Amino acid sequence: MLTMKFGGTSVGDVPRLLEVVSIVKQFLNEQPVVVASAMSGVTNTLLETARKAVERKTGEVHNAVNALRDKQLHIAHELVKDNRRRAALIKEQQASIDELSQLYYGIGLLKELSPRSLDAIASFGEILSCRQIAAILEENGIKSKFVDARTIIRTDNNFGEAAIDFSYSNGAINAGISPIVRQGIVPIVTGFIASTDDGITTTIGRSGSDYTGSIVGAAVNSKEIWIWTDVDGVMTADPRVVKSARVLSEISYREAAEMSYFGAKVIHPKTMVPAIEKKIPIRIKNTFNPTHPGTLISASATANGHSAKTVTSIDDLAIIAIEGSGMIGVPGVSARIFSALARAQVNVMMISQASSEHNVCFIVPKKDSKESVKVLRDEFSVDIAKKIIDDVSVKEPVSIIAVVGEGMIGTKGIAGKTFDAVAKADVNIIAIAQGSSELNISFVVEQTNAKKAVQSVHDAFYK
Ligand code: ASP
Ligand code: MG
Repeated sequence: MLTMKFGGTSVGDVPRLLEVVSIVKQFLNEQPVVVASAMSGVTNTLLETARKAVERKTGEVHNAVNALRDKQLHIAHELVKDNRRRAALIKEQQASIDELSQLYYGIGLLKELSPRSLDAIASFGEILSCRQIAAILEENGIKSKFVDARTIIRTDNNFGEAAIDFSYSNGAINAGISPIVRQGIVPIVTGFIASTDDGITTTIGRSGSDYTGSIVGAAVNSKEIWIWTDVDGVMTADPRVVKSARVLSEISYREAAEMSYFGAKVIHPKTMVPAIEKKIPIRIKNTFNPTHPGTLISASATANGHSAKTVTSIDDLAIIAIEGSGMIGVPGVSARIFSALARAQVNVMMISQASSEHNVCFIVPKKDSKESVKVLRDEFSVDIAKKIIDDVSVKEPVSIIAVVGEGMIGTKGIAGKTFDAVAKADVNIIAIAQGSSELNISFVVEQTNAKKAVQSVHDAFYK
Protein backbone atom coordinates (compact mmCIF):
# COMPACT_ATOMS: atom_id res chain seq x y z
CA MET A 1 0.00 0.00 0.00
CA LEU A 2 1.02 3.59 -0.57
CA THR A 3 -0.52 6.22 1.69
CA MET A 4 -0.93 9.61 0.06
CA LYS A 5 -2.01 12.64 2.04
CA PHE A 6 -3.27 15.66 0.12
CA GLY A 7 -3.19 19.05 1.84
CA GLY A 8 -5.69 21.90 1.64
CA THR A 9 -4.23 23.62 -1.43
CA SER A 10 -3.86 20.25 -3.18
CA VAL A 11 -7.64 19.74 -2.98
CA GLY A 12 -8.53 23.43 -3.01
CA ASP A 13 -9.97 23.96 -6.49
CA VAL A 14 -11.03 22.28 -9.73
CA PRO A 15 -7.58 22.08 -11.38
CA ARG A 16 -5.96 20.69 -8.22
CA LEU A 17 -8.69 18.10 -7.76
CA LEU A 18 -8.12 16.97 -11.35
CA GLU A 19 -4.43 16.65 -10.53
CA VAL A 20 -5.35 14.46 -7.54
CA VAL A 21 -7.32 12.22 -9.91
CA SER A 22 -4.35 11.93 -12.23
CA ILE A 23 -1.92 11.20 -9.37
CA VAL A 24 -4.14 8.52 -7.85
CA LYS A 25 -4.64 6.95 -11.29
CA GLN A 26 -0.91 6.88 -11.88
CA PHE A 27 -0.26 5.00 -8.64
CA LEU A 28 -3.25 2.63 -8.67
CA ASN A 29 -0.96 -0.40 -8.84
CA GLU A 30 0.60 0.65 -5.54
CA GLN A 31 -2.77 0.25 -3.78
CA PRO A 32 -3.18 3.87 -2.70
CA VAL A 33 -4.78 4.93 0.58
CA VAL A 34 -5.75 8.61 0.41
CA VAL A 35 -5.92 10.94 3.42
CA ALA A 36 -7.07 14.49 2.73
CA SER A 37 -7.52 17.87 4.38
CA ALA A 38 -10.35 20.33 4.08
CA MET A 39 -10.19 22.58 1.00
CA SER A 40 -7.79 25.42 1.75
CA GLY A 41 -9.29 28.16 3.86
CA VAL A 42 -12.36 26.14 4.86
CA THR A 43 -11.23 25.20 8.40
CA ASN A 44 -10.41 28.83 9.15
CA THR A 45 -13.78 29.97 7.82
CA LEU A 46 -15.65 27.32 9.82
CA LEU A 47 -13.95 28.43 13.05
CA GLU A 48 -14.34 32.16 12.37
CA THR A 49 -18.00 31.63 11.62
CA ALA A 50 -18.40 29.85 14.95
CA ARG A 51 -17.12 32.98 16.66
CA LYS A 52 -19.67 35.03 14.76
CA ALA A 53 -22.40 32.58 15.73
CA VAL A 54 -21.65 32.99 19.42
CA GLU A 55 -21.93 36.75 19.00
CA ARG A 56 -25.26 36.13 17.24
CA LYS A 57 -24.14 37.84 14.05
CA THR A 58 -26.75 35.76 12.27
CA GLY A 59 -26.51 37.56 8.92
CA GLU A 60 -22.79 36.88 8.67
CA VAL A 61 -23.23 33.27 9.72
CA HIS A 62 -25.92 32.83 7.11
CA ASN A 63 -23.66 34.27 4.39
CA ALA A 64 -20.74 32.08 5.39
CA VAL A 65 -22.86 28.93 5.32
CA ASN A 66 -24.23 29.87 1.90
CA ALA A 67 -20.77 30.54 0.55
CA LEU A 68 -19.63 27.12 1.77
CA ARG A 69 -22.66 25.47 0.15
CA ASP A 70 -21.94 27.26 -3.15
CA LYS A 71 -18.33 26.14 -3.04
CA GLN A 72 -19.33 22.50 -2.69
CA LEU A 73 -22.05 22.76 -5.33
CA HIS A 74 -19.62 24.36 -7.73
CA ILE A 75 -17.17 21.46 -7.35
CA ALA A 76 -19.97 18.91 -7.71
CA HIS A 77 -21.24 20.53 -10.92
CA GLU A 78 -17.79 20.95 -12.42
CA LEU A 79 -16.35 17.57 -11.57
CA VAL A 80 -19.21 15.10 -11.20
CA LYS A 81 -21.13 14.94 -14.47
CA ASP A 82 -23.01 11.70 -13.96
CA ASN A 83 -26.51 12.78 -12.89
CA ARG A 84 -27.17 10.13 -10.30
CA ARG A 85 -23.74 10.36 -8.75
CA ARG A 86 -23.91 14.15 -8.63
CA ALA A 87 -27.37 14.13 -7.07
CA ALA A 88 -26.22 11.65 -4.42
CA LEU A 89 -23.16 13.74 -3.59
CA ILE A 90 -25.13 16.97 -3.41
CA LYS A 91 -27.70 15.36 -1.14
CA GLU A 92 -25.04 14.27 1.32
CA GLN A 93 -23.18 17.57 1.21
CA GLN A 94 -26.46 19.41 1.81
CA ALA A 95 -27.22 17.22 4.81
CA SER A 96 -23.80 18.03 6.31
CA ILE A 97 -24.21 21.73 5.69
CA ASP A 98 -27.68 21.66 7.27
CA GLU A 99 -26.22 19.94 10.30
CA LEU A 100 -23.44 22.54 10.48
CA SER A 101 -25.99 25.30 10.25
CA GLN A 102 -27.89 23.81 13.18
CA LEU A 103 -24.73 23.69 15.23
CA TYR A 104 -24.14 27.39 14.59
CA TYR A 105 -27.69 28.08 15.62
CA GLY A 106 -27.19 26.10 18.82
CA ILE A 107 -24.02 27.99 19.64
CA GLY A 108 -25.87 31.26 19.19
CA LEU A 109 -28.70 30.12 21.45
CA LEU A 110 -26.40 28.91 24.18
CA LYS A 111 -23.92 31.74 23.71
CA GLU A 112 -21.26 29.23 24.48
CA LEU A 113 -18.38 28.11 22.31
CA SER A 114 -16.36 25.35 23.93
CA PRO A 115 -13.32 23.60 22.43
CA ARG A 116 -15.62 20.60 22.08
CA SER A 117 -18.07 22.55 19.89
CA LEU A 118 -15.21 24.01 17.86
CA ASP A 119 -14.00 20.50 17.06
CA ALA A 120 -17.48 19.41 16.02
CA ILE A 121 -17.64 22.41 13.69
CA ALA A 122 -14.11 22.07 12.31
CA SER A 123 -14.76 18.44 11.38
CA PHE A 124 -17.08 19.43 8.53
CA GLY A 125 -14.17 20.73 6.44
CA GLU A 126 -12.58 17.31 6.06
CA ILE A 127 -15.90 15.51 5.73
CA LEU A 128 -17.09 17.70 2.84
CA SER A 129 -13.71 17.57 1.16
CA CYS A 130 -13.16 13.81 1.36
CA ARG A 131 -16.67 12.94 0.34
CA GLN A 132 -16.32 14.99 -2.81
CA ILE A 133 -12.89 13.50 -3.60
CA ALA A 134 -14.40 10.01 -3.42
CA ALA A 135 -17.18 11.01 -5.83
CA ILE A 136 -14.72 12.67 -8.22
CA LEU A 137 -12.50 9.58 -8.31
CA GLU A 138 -15.54 7.39 -9.00
CA GLU A 139 -16.53 9.77 -11.78
CA ASN A 140 -13.12 9.12 -13.31
CA GLY A 141 -13.47 5.37 -13.21
CA ILE A 142 -11.54 4.81 -9.97
CA LYS A 143 -13.40 2.76 -7.37
CA SER A 144 -13.23 4.66 -4.11
CA LYS A 145 -14.87 4.93 -0.74
CA PHE A 146 -15.25 7.79 1.73
CA VAL A 147 -13.94 6.83 5.19
CA ASP A 148 -14.83 8.97 8.20
CA ALA A 149 -11.72 8.81 10.43
CA ARG A 150 -13.94 9.20 13.50
CA THR A 151 -14.89 5.55 13.07
CA ILE A 152 -11.28 4.30 13.14
CA ILE A 153 -9.11 6.80 15.03
CA ARG A 154 -9.67 7.15 18.75
CA THR A 155 -8.28 9.94 20.95
CA ASP A 156 -8.58 11.32 24.47
CA ASN A 157 -10.90 14.28 25.03
CA ASN A 158 -8.32 17.06 24.87
CA PHE A 159 -10.36 18.92 22.27
CA GLY A 160 -8.39 20.90 19.73
CA GLU A 161 -5.21 18.89 20.25
CA ALA A 162 -6.39 15.42 21.18
CA ALA A 163 -3.87 12.63 21.79
CA ILE A 164 -4.14 9.43 19.78
CA ASP A 165 -4.94 6.14 21.48
CA PHE A 166 -2.65 4.07 19.29
CA SER A 167 -3.38 0.75 20.91
CA TYR A 168 -7.01 1.00 19.86
CA SER A 169 -6.59 2.97 16.63
CA ASN A 170 -3.89 0.88 14.94
CA GLY A 171 -6.12 -2.18 14.93
CA ALA A 172 -9.26 -0.28 14.00
CA ILE A 173 -7.56 1.54 11.11
CA ASN A 174 -6.16 -1.68 9.75
CA ALA A 175 -9.49 -3.48 10.06
CA GLY A 176 -11.34 -0.55 8.49
CA ILE A 177 -9.00 0.14 5.60
CA SER A 178 -7.10 -2.94 4.48
CA PRO A 179 -10.17 -4.94 3.34
CA ILE A 180 -11.31 -2.00 1.19
CA VAL A 181 -7.90 -1.77 -0.45
CA ARG A 182 -7.84 -5.54 -1.05
CA GLN A 183 -11.07 -5.18 -3.02
CA GLY A 184 -9.32 -2.71 -5.33
CA ILE A 185 -11.08 0.30 -3.84
CA VAL A 186 -9.26 3.53 -2.88
CA PRO A 187 -10.23 4.67 0.63
CA ILE A 188 -10.47 8.44 1.09
CA VAL A 189 -9.86 9.06 4.78
CA THR A 190 -10.61 12.36 6.50
CA GLY A 191 -7.48 13.97 7.96
CA PHE A 192 -7.41 15.98 11.20
CA ILE A 193 -10.51 14.49 12.86
CA ALA A 194 -11.07 11.59 15.22
CA SER A 195 -13.33 10.73 18.13
CA THR A 196 -13.29 9.81 21.80
CA ASP A 197 -14.31 6.36 23.00
CA ASP A 198 -17.83 7.63 23.51
CA GLY A 199 -18.02 8.92 19.97
CA ILE A 200 -17.50 12.64 20.52
CA THR A 201 -15.73 14.40 17.63
CA THR A 202 -12.16 15.60 18.32
CA THR A 203 -9.39 17.18 16.24
CA ILE A 204 -5.71 16.41 16.57
CA GLY A 205 -4.27 19.93 16.18
CA ARG A 206 -4.24 22.50 13.39
CA SER A 207 -2.58 21.24 10.23
CA GLY A 208 -2.96 17.76 11.71
CA SER A 209 -3.89 15.97 8.48
CA ASP A 210 -0.20 15.20 7.88
CA TYR A 211 -0.23 13.44 11.22
CA THR A 212 -3.36 11.49 10.23
CA GLY A 213 -1.54 10.52 7.04
CA SER A 214 1.28 8.92 8.95
CA ILE A 215 -0.98 7.40 11.63
CA VAL A 216 -2.96 5.68 8.87
CA GLY A 217 0.11 4.85 6.79
CA ALA A 218 1.86 3.22 9.73
CA ALA A 219 -1.24 1.31 10.89
CA VAL A 220 -1.72 -0.32 7.47
CA ASN A 221 2.03 -0.92 7.02
CA SER A 222 2.22 1.29 4.00
CA LYS A 223 5.37 1.05 1.89
CA GLU A 224 5.80 4.82 1.99
CA ILE A 225 3.81 7.84 3.17
CA TRP A 226 3.60 10.68 0.67
CA ILE A 227 2.65 14.15 1.79
CA TRP A 228 1.34 16.05 -1.23
CA THR A 229 1.60 19.79 -0.64
CA ASP A 230 2.25 23.03 -2.53
CA VAL A 231 6.06 23.21 -2.38
CA ASP A 232 8.75 20.96 -3.86
CA GLY A 233 10.04 19.83 -0.49
CA VAL A 234 12.00 20.94 2.54
CA MET A 235 14.41 23.69 1.57
CA THR A 236 17.79 24.68 2.94
CA ALA A 237 16.31 28.10 3.86
CA ASP A 238 13.26 30.22 3.18
CA PRO A 239 13.58 31.08 -0.55
CA ARG A 240 12.12 34.52 0.14
CA VAL A 241 15.10 35.24 2.37
CA VAL A 242 17.86 33.29 0.64
CA LYS A 243 17.84 33.33 -3.18
CA SER A 244 20.17 30.36 -3.47
CA ALA A 245 18.03 28.17 -1.17
CA ARG A 246 17.46 24.71 -2.63
CA VAL A 247 15.32 21.65 -2.02
CA LEU A 248 16.89 18.94 0.13
CA SER A 249 16.58 15.57 -1.55
CA GLU A 250 16.92 13.59 1.68
CA ILE A 251 16.68 14.29 5.40
CA SER A 252 16.32 12.15 8.49
CA TYR A 253 13.23 11.84 10.70
CA ARG A 254 14.99 13.74 13.46
CA GLU A 255 16.01 16.53 11.13
CA ALA A 256 12.49 16.76 9.74
CA ALA A 257 11.02 16.98 13.23
CA GLU A 258 13.56 19.60 14.27
CA MET A 259 13.01 21.63 11.09
CA SER A 260 9.24 21.52 11.33
CA TYR A 261 9.40 23.14 14.75
CA PHE A 262 11.65 25.80 13.32
CA GLY A 263 10.02 27.83 10.63
CA ALA A 264 10.27 25.23 7.83
CA LYS A 265 6.57 24.50 8.25
CA VAL A 266 6.34 22.02 5.39
CA ILE A 267 5.14 19.16 7.55
CA HIS A 268 3.43 18.83 10.92
CA PRO A 269 6.03 18.00 13.62
CA LYS A 270 4.16 14.94 14.91
CA THR A 271 4.04 13.34 11.45
CA MET A 272 7.35 11.61 11.97
CA VAL A 273 6.30 9.81 15.17
CA PRO A 274 4.22 6.90 13.76
CA ALA A 275 6.55 6.50 10.76
CA ILE A 276 9.73 6.19 12.84
CA GLU A 277 8.48 3.18 14.74
CA LYS A 278 7.92 1.18 11.57
CA LYS A 279 10.73 2.83 9.62
CA ILE A 280 8.32 3.93 6.88
CA PRO A 281 9.85 6.57 4.62
CA ILE A 282 7.90 9.83 4.22
CA ARG A 283 8.11 11.75 0.97
CA ILE A 284 7.14 15.39 0.49
CA LYS A 285 5.68 15.97 -2.98
CA ASN A 286 4.27 18.98 -4.82
CA THR A 287 0.86 18.70 -6.53
CA PHE A 288 1.78 21.80 -8.55
CA ASN A 289 4.96 20.08 -9.79
CA PRO A 290 4.27 16.35 -9.45
CA THR A 291 7.31 15.10 -11.37
CA HIS A 292 9.74 16.74 -8.92
CA PRO A 293 11.23 14.01 -6.70
CA GLY A 294 10.59 16.06 -3.53
CA THR A 295 12.23 15.39 -0.18
CA LEU A 296 12.61 11.91 1.22
CA ILE A 297 12.47 11.63 5.03
CA SER A 298 13.84 8.39 6.42
CA ALA A 299 15.91 6.85 9.19
CA SER A 300 19.18 7.35 7.36
CA ALA A 301 20.98 10.59 8.05
CA THR A 302 22.93 10.95 4.83
CA ALA A 303 24.63 14.26 5.14
CA ASN A 304 24.39 15.25 1.44
CA GLY A 305 27.92 16.47 1.96
CA HIS A 306 26.59 19.11 4.31
CA SER A 307 26.77 18.94 8.08
CA ALA A 308 24.28 21.74 8.60
CA LYS A 309 21.25 21.29 6.38
CA THR A 310 18.85 24.13 7.02
CA VAL A 311 19.05 27.66 8.32
CA THR A 312 15.68 29.01 9.39
CA SER A 313 14.39 31.87 11.48
CA ILE A 314 11.32 32.68 13.51
CA ASP A 315 10.30 36.31 13.94
CA ASP A 316 8.07 38.21 16.34
CA LEU A 317 9.63 36.95 19.52
CA ALA A 318 10.71 38.57 22.78
CA ILE A 319 13.71 37.76 24.93
CA ILE A 320 13.08 38.00 28.65
CA ALA A 321 15.93 38.02 31.12
CA ILE A 322 16.05 37.63 34.87
CA GLU A 323 19.22 38.82 36.45
CA GLY A 324 20.75 39.18 39.86
CA SER A 325 23.76 38.03 41.85
CA GLY A 326 21.38 36.71 44.51
CA MET A 327 20.38 33.92 42.12
CA ILE A 328 23.80 32.34 42.02
CA GLY A 329 23.78 28.85 43.50
CA VAL A 330 20.18 29.14 44.72
CA PRO A 331 18.16 26.05 43.79
CA GLY A 332 14.65 26.44 42.47
CA VAL A 333 14.94 29.69 40.55
CA SER A 334 14.41 28.03 37.18
CA ALA A 335 11.57 25.95 38.54
CA ARG A 336 9.83 29.10 39.75
CA ILE A 337 10.37 30.88 36.43
CA PHE A 338 8.98 28.08 34.32
CA SER A 339 6.09 27.24 36.63
CA ALA A 340 5.01 30.87 36.58
CA LEU A 341 5.16 30.91 32.78
CA ALA A 342 3.30 27.61 32.57
CA ARG A 343 0.52 28.97 34.77
CA ALA A 344 0.24 31.90 32.34
CA GLN A 345 0.13 29.36 29.46
CA VAL A 346 3.16 30.90 27.79
CA ASN A 347 5.14 28.73 25.42
CA VAL A 348 8.89 29.03 26.02
CA MET A 349 10.75 28.58 22.74
CA MET A 350 14.36 28.69 23.86
CA ILE A 351 16.25 28.89 27.15
CA SER A 352 19.77 29.94 27.94
CA GLN A 353 21.66 30.28 31.18
CA ALA A 354 25.38 30.87 31.43
CA SER A 355 27.24 28.81 33.99
CA SER A 356 27.81 31.90 36.15
CA GLU A 357 24.06 31.54 36.94
CA HIS A 358 23.80 35.29 37.10
CA ASN A 359 21.31 35.56 34.25
CA VAL A 360 18.61 33.28 32.90
CA CYS A 361 17.04 34.29 29.64
CA PHE A 362 14.39 32.72 27.47
CA ILE A 363 12.39 33.44 24.37
CA VAL A 364 8.62 33.70 24.15
CA PRO A 365 6.26 34.86 21.39
CA LYS A 366 6.13 38.68 21.40
CA LYS A 367 2.37 38.59 21.95
CA ASP A 368 2.99 36.93 25.34
CA SER A 369 5.80 39.17 26.55
CA LYS A 370 3.71 41.58 28.64
CA GLU A 371 1.91 38.78 30.45
CA SER A 372 5.20 36.92 31.00
CA VAL A 373 6.88 39.92 32.58
CA LYS A 374 3.86 40.50 34.77
CA VAL A 375 3.68 36.95 36.14
CA LEU A 376 7.45 36.89 36.72
CA ARG A 377 7.46 40.22 38.57
CA ASP A 378 4.65 38.83 40.74
CA GLU A 379 6.48 35.56 41.35
CA PHE A 380 9.73 37.31 42.27
CA SER A 381 8.31 40.42 43.94
CA VAL A 382 9.89 39.61 47.30
CA ASP A 383 13.24 38.78 45.71
CA ILE A 384 13.15 42.01 43.71
CA ALA A 385 12.36 44.00 46.84
CA LYS A 386 15.27 42.33 48.66
CA LYS A 387 17.53 42.98 45.65
CA ILE A 388 18.22 39.27 45.24
CA ILE A 389 17.00 39.77 41.72
CA ASP A 390 17.61 43.01 39.87
CA ASP A 391 14.64 42.93 37.59
CA VAL A 392 12.85 41.21 34.78
CA SER A 393 13.82 42.80 31.49
CA VAL A 394 12.46 42.36 28.00
CA LYS A 395 13.79 43.09 24.54
CA GLU A 396 11.67 42.82 21.39
CA PRO A 397 11.22 42.15 18.53
CA VAL A 398 13.88 39.50 18.23
CA SER A 399 14.27 36.41 16.04
CA ILE A 400 15.60 32.94 16.71
CA ILE A 401 17.83 31.56 14.00
CA ALA A 402 18.26 27.80 13.99
CA VAL A 403 20.88 25.77 12.15
CA VAL A 404 19.78 22.14 11.88
CA GLY A 405 21.47 18.98 10.65
CA GLU A 406 22.40 15.56 11.96
CA GLY A 407 25.82 15.88 10.38
CA MET A 408 26.54 18.48 13.06
CA ILE A 409 26.56 15.80 15.73
CA GLY A 410 30.11 15.28 16.87
CA THR A 411 31.47 17.48 14.07
CA LYS A 412 33.90 20.14 15.20
CA GLY A 413 33.77 23.69 13.97
CA ILE A 414 30.06 24.01 13.24
CA ALA A 415 29.45 26.60 15.94
CA GLY A 416 32.62 28.42 14.91
CA LYS A 417 31.56 28.54 11.28
CA THR A 418 28.05 29.67 12.22
CA PHE A 419 29.10 32.49 14.48
CA ASP A 420 31.86 33.56 12.17
CA ALA A 421 29.27 33.99 9.43
CA VAL A 422 27.04 36.01 11.77
CA ALA A 423 29.97 38.27 12.63
CA LYS A 424 30.78 38.72 8.92
CA ALA A 425 27.21 39.94 8.42
CA ASP A 426 27.92 42.51 11.14
CA VAL A 427 25.14 41.12 13.32
CA ASN A 428 25.23 40.96 17.10
CA ILE A 429 24.19 37.73 18.83
CA ILE A 430 22.06 38.27 21.93
CA ALA A 431 21.82 34.68 23.22
CA ILE A 432 22.80 31.17 22.19
CA ALA A 433 21.50 27.65 22.87
CA GLN A 434 22.50 24.22 21.72
CA GLY A 435 20.83 21.16 23.16
CA SER A 436 22.92 18.12 23.86
CA SER A 437 21.29 16.39 20.87
CA GLU A 438 23.68 18.62 18.89
CA LEU A 439 21.47 18.70 15.84
CA ASN A 440 20.23 22.23 16.39
CA ILE A 441 22.20 25.36 17.21
CA SER A 442 19.89 28.27 17.93
CA PHE A 443 20.75 31.88 18.57
CA VAL A 444 18.88 35.12 19.02
CA VAL A 445 19.35 38.36 17.09
CA GLU A 446 17.41 41.58 16.75
CA GLN A 447 14.63 41.00 14.24
CA THR A 448 15.94 43.69 11.89
CA ASN A 449 19.15 41.64 11.54
CA ALA A 450 17.59 38.22 11.06
CA LYS A 451 17.59 38.14 7.25
CA LYS A 452 21.20 39.23 6.98
CA ALA A 453 22.28 36.62 9.48
CA VAL A 454 20.31 33.80 7.80
CA GLN A 455 21.79 34.69 4.39
CA SER A 456 25.32 34.78 5.69
CA VAL A 457 25.08 31.49 7.64
CA HIS A 458 23.42 29.78 4.66
CA ASP A 459 26.24 30.98 2.39
CA ALA A 460 28.82 29.68 4.81
CA PHE A 461 27.42 26.12 4.70
CA TYR A 462 26.32 26.06 1.06
CA LYS A 463 29.26 27.38 -0.90
N1 ASP B 1 -7.92 21.36 7.88
C1 ASP B 1 -7.11 21.31 9.06
C2 ASP B 1 -6.48 22.68 9.30
O1 ASP B 1 -6.62 23.58 8.51
C3 ASP B 1 -6.08 20.24 9.01
C4 ASP B 1 -5.06 20.35 7.91
O2 ASP B 1 -5.20 21.15 7.00
O3 ASP B 1 -4.07 19.64 7.97
O4 ASP B 1 -5.84 22.86 10.31
MG1 MG C 1 -3.83 22.62 6.04
